[in-house]
Amino acid sequence: MNELPLIQHLIDGQLVAGGTRSVDVFNPATGQAEKRVLLADKHTVEQAIASAHAAYPAWRATPPLKRARVMSKLKTLLEDNAERLCALLTAEHGKVLSDSMGELQRGIENVEYASYAPELLKGEHSKNVGPSMDSWSEFQPLGVTAGITPFNFPVMVPLWMWPMAIACGNTFVLKPSERDPSSALLVAELALQAGLPPGVLNVVNGDKEAVDALLTDKRVQAISFVGSTPIAEYIYATGCAHGKRVQALGGAKNHAVVMPDADIANAVNALMGAAYGSCGERCMAIPLVVAVGDATADAVLAGLKAEIAKMKVGPGTDSANDMGPLVTKAHLDKVKGFVDQGVQEGATLVVDGRNVQVAGHESGYFMGACLFDHVKPGMKIYQEEIFGPVLGVVRVKTLQEGMDLINAHEYGNGTCIFTRDGEAARYFSDHILVGMVGVNVPLPVPVAYHSFGGWKRSLFGDLSAYGPDAVRFYTKRKTITQRWPSAGVREGAVFSFPTNR
Ligand code: NAD
Repeated sequence: MNELPLIQHLIDGQLVAGGTRSVDVFNPATGQAEKRVLLADKHTVEQAIASAHAAYPAWRATPPLKRARVMSKLKTLLEDNAERLCALLTAEHGKVLSDSMGELQRGIENVEYASYAPELLKGEHSKNVGPSMDSWSEFQPLGVTAGITPFNFPVMVPLWMWPMAIACGNTFVLKPSERDPSSALLVAELALQAGLPPGVLNVVNGDKEAVDALLTDKRVQAISFVGSTPIAEYIYATGCAHGKRVQALGGAKNHAVVMPDADIANAVNALMGAAYGSCGERCMAIPLVVAVGDATADAVLAGLKAEIAKMKVGPGTDSANDMGPLVTKAHLDKVKGFVDQGVQEGATLVVDGRNVQVAGHESGYFMGACLFDHVKPGMKIYQEEIFGPVLGVVRVKTLQEGMDLINAHEYGNGTCIFTRDGEAARYFSDHILVGMVGVNVPLPVPVAYHSFGGWKRSLFGDLSAYGPDAVRFYTKRKTITQRWPSAGVREGAVFSFPTNR
């Protein structure tokens, strides 16, 4: 019998069991299984959907300001419980505690934005669109909505979704990553404490079986997904085929261009955090540097080598460390496999972190920073998302050559340019085929009151995540045209199309 604590589901305001399957949840810093998470079966997911469906009419009718107040209260509760939440996050994901705190803060900002929903839900009104006739558009909730989230931001990405969905009057079923599910569950419990009625937010833990149940159930009106591109594509196709509104954010391969006139020391510092922060397990991480000119490439490589030598790898609970472990053993092996392949394909491995060991944590999923020179298009380490601490330098002769590479890549999530030349930066921002662009900013993750979304195979769907796009995604426009006939405007039957002529 397994004695590990069991992570359950949150349905109708209660923690409940459901499903006969379960998997271990590991502490990546020790390599030990510390909990087990139940994997919901179809029936359990249907119970969660039924609860959300039943809660919807009353929640839809709740005044927006009252719904928003729950978000304000939740913001305070998240701040009060920050240490507890981040300890849970780091224990299951592995990222260093300061990074967990950063993730939580960006999540809280989404809750804060959702608390402005009454302002954001104001409609559009036009008086006298015809004689004594007024017209307005209002934004009505959809009903039961659902979210499926990845392992790499277990607190923040769910908060991109459900606070706004719920503040707009929908109810929600969340399916977090089964690799690090506890922190999202704790946030949902805090939301109940903040005043969400039972059923408005439900959490089901699980894998493909749970996801498929959400994708095919008629009661679910919309699906938000964040994860890898093959699954995003599957979610988009399946959800749309079942008549749902779907936004599916996928993977990435973000390039940073370094121009010859850039402040190299600044660029190197920025690249260190963007490439190796959170072990490279960020969809906005920078795994590729496009250096314009050999002198630029040489200077960047020298700077990176010097900084990597100072980096500290170890458990995320120790604040002295810069980089924690990768999330699972399977992922560690996959990332090391990419590095092996890069060497075989002819890239120059300048720094090899494959065999880094952390004393006292020999079973943890650690590796050190890896740095490649002479990475070229066509190599696997150039084409594919590695999602690990592996940075490659691509040498090009001109900005245009670098931009052509970026524009030809299948992903288009984020990119940035380091330069002192405003004209080059402006040209780059205008013509690059990528959804989020930084100028001397390595991780241009939009703030909560803008929206987050990549281009090309980094996003399937029309609307981005959070910010103003989320208000549109989680509502349907309804346009009402109204006249109250009085003696003065009474007309006989009119058979031609009404106009203002
Ligand atoms: P993943 O695609 O493996 O899993 C994401 C979610 O999908 C999880 O909840 C998982 O349980 C579920 N899932 C997995 N396989 C499934 C299947 N066959 N059918 C149905 N559901 C399935 O992604 P991950 O490894 O958890 O996260 C890392 C990926 O997420 C990276 O590719 C990263 O770039 C991407 N990501 C993208 C963004 C973005 O905003 N574009 C943000 C964060 C992460």
